[in-house]
Amino acid sequence: MTNTARRLVEVKIILSFCRAKNLKDTLVRSTISSNVEERVENGSFKCNGRKSCQICSVIKKENTFSHLDNSKVFHNFTGRYNCSSENVVYMLQCTCCDKKYIGSTKTKFRQRFNTYKSYFRAYAKKQQEGTLGVGKQIPQASFFSHFFEAGHNGKLTVSVSFIDGASNIYNLRRRELFWQYKLRTFMPRGLNDRAADVELDMFACGTK
Ligand SMILES: [Zn+2]
Ligand SMILES: [Zn+2]
Repeated sequence: MTNTARRLVEVKIILSFCRAKNLKDTLVRSTISSNVEERVENGSFKCNGRKSCQICSVIKKENTFSHLDNSKVFHNFTGRYNCSSENVVYMLQCTCCDKKYIGSTKTKFRQRFNTYKSYFRAYAKKQQEGTLGVGKQIPQASFFSHFFEAGHNGKLTVSVSFIDGASNIYNLRRRELFWQYKLRTFMPRGLNDRAADVELDMFACGTK
C-alpha cells in the first residue's frame, strides 16, 4: 500500500466514527441549549411595558452579583425579575462607594422602592432643616444617612439587582437573612443596620 493510499484508509476510519446525528442527539442537544437559555434569561430585567420607568432605570440587567470586594461572584438562577416582581430579595448598591444593602419585599418591588424614595425625601428635608433628632424618626435613618457622608452627594444614588426569590414570606425573610450574612452587608462594611427579622414574619405567616 502506498503512503497516500494508507492515509486515505486512515481518514476513512476516522470519518466512520462520526456517525450521522440521530433523534437522540437532537433531543439531548436541544435540552442542553434550552437549559442554558433559561439560565441566561434569569436575573434582573427592566419592565417593557413602561417606556420610561424611573425604577427600572436603576435596575442592573445582570444575573450575577458579588461580595463587596468582588472576591466571589454569585448567579441568580431563581427567576426573572423586574420592578413589578413580588416576593423578591433585592440588593441596593451605592453607586458612589459600592456598599451594599440586602432587603426583601412581599409586595411589588416598585412599591417598596417608592417607599424608600419618600422616606429619603423626608430624611433629606430634616437633614437640611437640622431637625433629624426632633419629632418623628424616619425609618431606616442610618441607611439614608450614608448618602450624606463624605464622597456622596445627598441623593439616593443606588443601583438595584434582584438576587433571589421565595414562594412565601417566611422563606423570603430566610433568604434575605442568608444573603445578608453571605455577602456581609452589615454596617460598617455594608449598609444593613440590622438582620432580617425572620421570627416576626414567621408569626405573620402563621396568622395569614
Ligand atoms: Zn419598571
Ligand atoms: Zn456609598
